[in-house]
Amino acid sequence: MQPILPTPLLLLTPGPLTTSDATRAALARDWGSRETDFIAMSEGVRARLVALAGVADTHVAVPLPGSGTHAVEAVVQTLVPRDGKLLVLVNGAYGHRMVAMARRLGRQVALLEAPEDQPIAPAAVAAALSADPAVTDVALVHCETTSGLLNPLEAVAAVVQAANRRFIIDAMSSFGAIPIDGAALQFSALVGSANKGLEGVPGLSYAIAEKTHLAASAGNASSVSLDLHDQWRGFESNRQWRFTPPVQVVAALAAALDQLAAEGGIAARHARYSRNCDVLLDGMQALGFVLFLPRALQAPVITTWHIPPGGWFQFDQFYEFLHQRGVIIYPGKLTAQPSFRIGCIGAIGPDDLARAMAEIGAFVRAYDPARSAA
Ligand SMILES: *Cc1c(COP(=O)(O)O)cnc(C)c1O
Repeated sequence: MQPILPTPLLLLTPGPLTTSDATRAALARDWGSRETDFIAMSEGVRARLVALAGVADTHVAVPLPGSGTHAVEAVVQTLVPRDGKLLVLVNGAYGHRMVAMARRLGRQVALLEAPEDQPIAPAAVAAALSADPAVTDVALVHCETTSGLLNPLEAVAAVVQAANRRFIIDAMSSFGAIPIDGAALQFSALVGSANKGLEGVPGLSYAIAEKTHLAASAGNASSVSLDLHDQWRGFESNRQWRFTPPVQVVAALAAALDQLAAEGGIAARHARYSRNCDVLLDGMQALGFVLFLPRALQAPVITTWHIPPGGWFQFDQFYEFLHQRGVIIYPGKLTAQPSFRIGCIGAIGPDDLARAMAEIGAFVRAYDPARSAA
């Protein structure tokens, strides 16, 4: 028999996330893709995305159906010239994924790698750029969801700008969660998805792309459906999606963006996520768990924990214990060390994290012989 899970389900993962009732309610109707109401809604979403990034004058938002990876792949193939070279700054799995894409797309690619628990060093980026004049574009993962580490976006952007190269930001797990002053940075594209910090449902990702470079990128993409330039031209010519839009997902994102504004924008959401993260970090550390990252590098998005020593802790058992109680966590993704992850973003607050901490405490008391004896 399926257990009856408490609602809402707490999805303490990197996405999909817990959504609000209002966001889920927005899914409950049909839309024709050429209806004027739908067109206005989808144009409204595009306008709000560029405004949230602070770049309404210089950039355009180009949404695509699909998960975040689709938009990253669209950006790489559309905005990195076929004879260009992409330098990917890697300190986790999402950086490696971009390297794999660029290779598959036949772009020249270089990789500057830091350990998974260390931020990308701007000085190392500067050195790599002066050593390799062939590099045309640089890509950074802002919050590396593999570990939860926040990379120094502004400092890296400044180095890339000083070296006169283009800059691509994978802001998938940070956009909406962490303020980004796009007007103070120079970037050719920032990539995000509906179902992370914006608290929409999965099925849509987007690039916020610099108009001038996007306009100059016609014919560069190697695929029809992931051609960001043509998708943009489609929106500009008749305000419609080129192919079947994920209409309900757009409607849910529009509702989620209304809620983001009502909450007070990204700064207010960042403050809530930070409170969530504090409850999580304090609660886990009080239970004896050891955080993978130094706390100063930890973004209020997702946290990575070492598997406790002593053999009593079985991740599958832990996962299932929490699942039975309506709390979903995530396996680790580190290359070298066994770990697990717990997120703190989504339509949830500190009380929800406190509830999760109570369940985790119950697990520890039930299974850790040191605790159950005490
Ligand atoms: C979630 C995420 C992606 C995209 O992953 P999908 O599973 O395709 O949505 C890319 N980069 C980062 C940093 C992410 O957190």
